[in-house]
Amino acid sequence: MLSGKVAVVTGASRGIGREIALALADNGADLVLSARSAEGLESLAHEIKRKGRRALAVTGDVACSEDVAHLFSEAGKSFDRIDILVNNAGITRDGLLVRMKDEDWDLVMDTNLKGAFLCTRAAGKIMSKQRSGRIINISSVVGEMGNPGQANYCASKAGLVGLTKSVARELARRNVTANAVAPGFVVTEMTSALPEKAREDLIGQIPLARLGEPADIANAVLFLASDNAAYITGQVLSVNGGMYM
Ligand code: NAP
Repeated sequence: MLSGKVAVVTGASRGIGREIALALADNGADLVLSARSAEGLESLAHEIKRKGRRALAVTGDVACSEDVAHLFSEAGKSFDRIDILVNNAGITRDGLLVRMKDEDWDLVMDTNLKGAFLCTRAAGKIMSKQRSGRIINISSVVGEMGNPGQANYCASKAGLVGLTKSVARELARRNVTANAVAPGFVVTEMTSALPEKAREDLIGQIPLARLGEPADIANAVLFLASDNAAYITGQVLSVNGGMYM
């Protein structure tokens, strides 16, 4: 389905990003994988190579312009195109609004929103020249609903929707689509700190009565990256078990 395509996935070293990278590779794509630490990234690159696909691991911080420039320059040395960008790198720094530190606001916005902007700007130039490309931003159900204790995170994830729609409008004439996937609560390191009681309460709010698995999100990304989604742009695909409709 994606053979001959090159995909860049940020935050690929674990959780949802790792599953997205594996799903794209299983469907024929070659991968450029990024995260801050090499741990997890190199082993994923090996796993993808064992599938017969090419994989390049580049460490860097998506919030840092120089690191993003380095990521795309390394990608350019190994691959002559970029077909798919998945802006997945994200963090939380939770706290009640009235006590939230400036640093916690800035770090979350810089990573989750500015990081996506920097990568989209870099990939957008390449995709515009190619006159084809797919940009997929990983937002969140809480960007749609809000969540107490996550003003910074929710603002960053809602901001990604505005970014997605603007990019979709700007790059449509170049045959580049931009969409967001808004996961509900997914079983990863990010949600592993939830106490059992909070987890049960959460499941009570989900019509499909379970947390999401990384594969649930990867399947949605795979669809948006595929030719089947050629006429879809500027959309938010919610993958949340019905938690928010
Ligand atoms: P995770 O397990 O914590 O993984 C996050 C990934 O992002 C890691 O590979 C991490 O590697 C990388 N990363 C973090 N900060 C980075 C930075 N500044 N630059 C580059 N890479 C960075 O998180 P996850 O649960 O898989 O979440 C993935 C995405 O889905 C995030 O955007 C998250 O907000 C979103 N999401 C998650 C859930 C959920 O319930 N889990 C729900 C909705 C949306 P390093 O630490 O090595 O950099």
